Amino acid sequence: MRVLTQISSGKSVTVDAKLSDTIETLKTKLNEVEFLDALNQRLVFQGKECHDYETLKEIGYQQNCALNLLVRVQGGVIEPSLILLAQKYNCDKKVCRKCYARLPIRATNCRKKNVVHSSDLRLKKKSKYI
Ligand SMILES: [Zn+2]
Repeated sequence: MRVLTQISSGKSVTVDAKLSDTIETLKTKLNEVEFLDALNQRLVFQGKECHDYETLKEIGYQQNCALNLLVRVQGGVIEPSLILLAQKYNCDKKVCRKCYARLPIRATNCRKKNVVHSSDLRLKKKSKYI
């Protein structure tokens, strides 16, 4: 069976595995393909982290589903749901060109009242780290 794994960097890797294979085995295979240290890998399936001793069958893996592979980096790994949450609160924002106030994505005018009421807003620049 082909197991599709989506790496947090956006790349996806396919490895051959059986439903009876454990997550640990899968990590070893990913290590062979991508040279990622198994200790630094965290596999997430449908929003839940998979444990090394669980098999693909136990986590409910089905053909053509994608596992998410998070590679532990300095500073720790952020849960995928938290990344989305952080993006919602910190990235998907507009910024006032006049006073740099951070505004909601739907804002049309700057909320600051002490300066000229400005509608000169731009989207916040995307972080290059996510
Ligand atoms: Zn402003």
